[in-house]
Amino acid sequence: MAKSFMPTIKTEEELRDLQVKGLRWTINHVYQGSDFYRKSFDQAGVKPDDIRSLDDIKRLPFTAAKDLQEGYPFPLRAVPFKDIVRIHASSGTTGKRKVLCYTQKDIDDWGDFFARCYEMASLTKEDRVQIAVGYGVWTAGVGFQLGCERFGAMAIPAGPGNIDMQCMFLVDFQSTVLCCTASMGLLMAEEVEKRNIRDKINLKKVIFGSERSSEAMRGRIKELLGVEHTFDIPGMTELYGPGTGLDCIYHEGIHYWADYYILEILDPDTLKEVKDGEIGEMVITTLRKEGSPLIRYRTRDLTRIMPDRCSCGSILPMHDALLGRSDDMFIIRGVNIYPGQIDTIVSQTQGAGSEYQITLDRKEDGKDYMSVKVERAKAEDPSRDEGLKKKIEIEIKKQILVSGAVTIVDYGDLPRSERKSKRVFDNRD
Ligand code: ZN
Repeated sequence: MAKSFMPTIKTEEELRDLQVKGLRWTINHVYQGSDFYRKSFDQAGVKPDDIRSLDDIKRLPFTAAKDLQEGYPFPLRAVPFKDIVRIHASSGTTGKRKVLCYTQKDIDDWGDFFARCYEMASLTKEDRVQIAVGYGVWTAGVGFQLGCERFGAMAIPAGPGNIDMQCMFLVDFQSTVLCCTASMGLLMAEEVEKRNIRDKINLKKVIFGSERSSEAMRGRIKELLGVEHTFDIPGMTELYGPGTGLDCIYHEGIHYWADYYILEILDPDTLKEVKDGEIGEMVITTLRKEGSPLIRYRTRDLTRIMPDRCSCGSILPMHDALLGRSDDMFIIRGVNIYPGQIDTIVSQTQGAGSEYQITLDRKEDGKDYMSVKVERAKAEDPSRDEGLKKKIEIEIKKQILVSGAVTIVDYGDLPRSERKSKRVFDNRD
């Protein structure tokens, strides 16, 4: 039987023990090896010996993106340079890039848990994996490649773009798995249709990295390429790179590797833990990372824990898809709201387009009101606007517990931008 990359632990209790062990190791490691963390712990009045249980994590100070930027070029480094075998950096302007150091063990760990992604996606060594993401100082291509070789499938390091070449590889090499961003996946799917080569290719699965894919997008890609599954792989440079989780073939949530890092979901305002199933900011503490460990690193990404065990039976817990950035959060009538929640509702409503705009006003009665403009889908009949409006209003009330007055506008009425569109207009004082 092929080597498995799944955790050897069998129960949640064993997982917690492993986390406590990893946490204590990490705290001691950074206290000895990193000036930054020692100073930060001293300022917070915490000593490594104070951390004995998972609950004690709450006593540790937070780390943020600005700590990485201020520590440029080698922030959070916790080992001597002789032990560092590689660095990676996020994209960004010089001095603002986040640079992370890797020891050989970090690279090995990364390869192992990325191989787990392929295993969880039910690949075999017979699979041929066309890796159409960026190779370079960032982590994408290198990560997908490392995991693929560790897993034992055949890697085709195609890199991004170059649609002609991608299509040729799909036909000539009979790639069974395509790894790319969701937008590239859609582009490829449409290209395969346009060139009428679907019968000549052998794709079974598409794995998306680095970009959130919408339900509609996934459906379209599956249909055009004739693949069985699409998967989402989350990942950020700070936490090794891509490969830190995957939705399994049941697609009930994204399993994350709780034997490599602890995931806290905190209210971004109060920094207190939210209840299981509630949305909050992902805060990460690594359990084995040597080069640049993370202690309560605030990712600014929003998601929630899926409270139920997955149908696949894995003890690896799950979080939901990423729902946006905590910087975009607003509060209305005491409820935290993230634009991503409205996004989800709009994109799940048939007849609605993908564009929307949220306006917040304080009226004479002193209360806050939310109104939402939603574009009608391109081919949708305007006579159905009233029904569409009602449907979205009901879902908002049901899912977010706040009322929002919905107005349906014509397709193309709301402004587009190549960068992130501004979606929330807050007119309150
Ligand atoms: Zn599962």
